[in-house]
Amino acid sequence: MYLRLMPIFILKDLFFRLLALPEFLCSILGFTPNKVLNIRVLILKKENSSVSNSNIIEHWIKTTSKILESECHILLKVIDIESFETNEQALESSCKFKSAFSKNAKIYAKLLSNFYKSETIFERFGYGAPLNVIVTKSFKSANDGCAIPLITNYVVLTYDAATTTLTHEISHIAWLGHKALKSNIMNRFQNRGTHFTRFQKAMLRTSRYVSWFGQ
Ligand SMILES: [Zn+2]
Repeated sequence: MYLRLMPIFILKDLFFRLLALPEFLCSILGFTPNKVLNIRVLILKKENSSVSNSNIIEHWIKTTSKILESECHILLKVIDIESFETNEQALESSCKFKSAFSKNAKIYAKLLSNFYKSETIFERFGYGAPLNVIVTKSFKSANDGCAIPLITNYVVLTYDAATTTLTHEISHIAWLGHKALKSNIMNRFQNRGTHFTRFQKAMLRTSRYVSWFGQ
């Protein structure tokens, strides 16, 4: 079922990119009124355990909100924050292209399908749909976050992710790649800065997840 969603996600991403092309150019020229990004935070945890790091999660959401507002004039709205019990295997994620087809991806898709029914018609169409933030225990590699653009509609972070990681992963979903510059948000290391170039700002602002509604 979730594999069938992938071509739909690709079409949605491409369609809204094309539609937003004039806005992208205006944004490059400095026209950047406030827009909104909705996120839904789903915290995975082991059966019968509590999430011990919930204050770290709150802290990185607050930091993300500050960075997005000051750098890109995007207001971050957390529409839902919930925790779900899952098995040990689902708590260890991997961050490779093929992980979008893994058992864990299947578990995420099943979890997310519960929320689609409550989405508005615009959101179902793809515009302004909430970006899903899945919080898990660890990655097989040393990462603290992962995003596979185009074919997925979620980012994955660890409980103890760095404060800039959520902004970094959201930017990956908006098609941004890595940059070597240490002060830039797209630097791959956790001690990265928070700066966006004009191009990066325009790309993030014209992602289909970022809308004019709900301010
Ligand atoms: Zn990255």
